Amino acid sequence: MNMGFSIRYDLLPAVKRRKPPAEVKHFGAIRTDHMFVAEYQDGGWRDPRIVPYDSFSVLPGAIGLHYGQTIFEGAKAFLHADGEIRTFRVNENAKRLNRSAETLMMPGIPEELQLEGLYRLLDVERRWCPVDPDASMYIRPFMFATEDKLGVKPSASYIYSIMLSPSGRYYSGGVRAVKLLVTTKFHRAVSGGTGAAKTGGNYAASLRAAEYAHRAGADQVLYLDASNTFIEEAGTMNHYHVTRDGVFMIPEFSDSILCSITSLSVLELAKGGICKAELAVIPIREFLEDLRTGRIIEAGGFGTAAGVSPVGAYIMDDGEEIKVGDGGIGGHSRNLYEYYTRIQKGETPAPEGWLAVVPRYPEAV
Ligand SMILES: *Cc1c(COP(=O)(O)O)cnc(C)c1O
Repeated sequence: MNMGFSIRYDLLPAVKRRKPPAEVKHFGAIRTDHMFVAEYQDGGWRDPRIVPYDSFSVLPGAIGLHYGQTIFEGAKAFLHADGEIRTFRVNENAKRLNRSAETLMMPGIPEELQLEGLYRLLDVERRWCPVDPDASMYIRPFMFATEDKLGVKPSASYIYSIMLSPSGRYYSGGVRAVKLLVTTKFHRAVSGGTGAAKTGGNYAASLRAAEYAHRAGADQVLYLDASNTFIEEAGTMNHYHVTRDGVFMIPEFSDSILCSITSLSVLELAKGGICKAELAVIPIREFLEDLRTGRIIEAGGFGTAAGVSPVGAYIMDDGEEIKVGDGGIGGHSRNLYEYYTRIQKGETPAPEGWLAVVPRYPEAV
């Protein structure tokens, strides 16, 4: 893959490179030796390079630090049995980063440059891709505003970077059913806001709600729309539930819901007849009623980090707890989780274009 971007290599000498751990247990805890960096200045992306993982030098007045002009992505690559590393749908992440950039008045970065930087970085760091069957190379691309200015306006300069984190499975004890708080006290996003962008501010705004959820005995919040009528999403995951007919229902995307690539993938699998899935506007009242009467048999969240994350119970603001099925992991969720991870690991055929081999470049020595 060479699309005409000249990417500079400034790699650590072999003796300074660390030894990757034999086993990775946690999600997001480890960094590899190098990162990809490019800077936006004078209207263009400059000096794309792979350099040692280290601090950025940013002036105190950087707009990103004050006004939150930041965006990010999350994707995964997997080491397959044939010894090749394959990325999972990273072209979708590159597109989404540019959509987020538009929302935050940031410059887009050519998808080809994002992908070229990523593939070259993954190639340099291939030793770090974990072998454990439940592990993956978590990919974190991000962009933030660097101009030193206190006026509120879009920055004239930015850093785009990709860091890698060899990761174990998201729930270190294995997949477990989590509890979500259904609350009217906090909202993640509103129509006309930034909810459909992957931006730091949405996450900063979710921290207090998460703390409130923990105090109520829940793991996270199931966010409702601002009128407290419809289900939106779970803050790091899209919502799903399964009807008695085995259909995965996913809230219709809107400008206050982040369009999950996992959700899109499930919808595509449904088109291919692998499972049943549909988008719908989902009133919270109906959802809770259907949980109580057993018309809904499973529920959970879709997201890259955990894949399919079953929910065992929803906790209301008044403390009432509504179980989903028997409170454990349902068969539809388990089957989908397993099918999805088998695709990612190359153990079952992937739909066209979902997996791409990381090439071996002569520069990566
Ligand atoms: C990243 C994210 C998701 C999950 O999206 P995936 O592309 O499946 O990882 C869901 N909700 C929010 C708010 C997110 O930021």
